Amino acid sequence: MTGSMHYTRESCAIAGCAKSALSGHTRCWEHVDNRQAFLDALHPEALAGTWLAGVDLSGRDLEGADFSGARLSGACLAGAKLRGANLRETFLDGADLRGADCTDADLEFAVLGGADVSGACFKNANLQRANLVGTRGRRADFSGANLYYARPGNADLEEAVFDGANIERTIFRHANLKGATLRGARGTANFENAVLEDVRR
Ligand SMILES: [Zn+2]
Repeated sequence: MTGSMHYTRESCAIAGCAKSALSGHTRCWEHVDNRQAFLDALHPEALAGTWLAGVDLSGRDLEGADFSGARLSGACLAGAKLRGANLRETFLDGADLRGADCTDADLEFAVLGGADVSGACFKNANLQRANLVGTRGRRADFSGANLYYARPGNADLEEAVFDGANIERTIFRHANLKGATLRGARGTANFENAVLEDVRR
């Protein structure tokens, strides 16, 4: 990441816990007593660069929230409303984004390795240079998204939709695109060893 982002991570206050404390708290998510109070105190406009690993924000309305550079590794964002959210350089590795609405979101340089985005919507989202290595994204919708130089290697994108997407230099190496739709997708992608059975173009 960039040198401008400095985390001064304290360890969780619980003896023997090796995890980092959440931003604005002395403990990791696992050891937070009142999780609801912690979540309710979060300000959607002041989340950039925060450490929120593992938190449960499932189903929350986070439209337009600024999570740029934040650490949401392993977080649950299933069904979250993230329309137009700023997720630039956000760590979402191993996160659960199933069914999340990321329409128009900015995910440039975001890390989604090992995340589950099955059924999520990334319509018109900016996914340039995003790391999607090993991401599970069956039936996810990337219509009109910009995937320039995105890296969904080994990703499971069965029946995902890329209609009208920019796939210039997108690296689908070893990805499963069985039954995926790429109607009107633009650009030259790398499909080396990808599963392209029943792909509709
Ligand atoms: Zn802990």
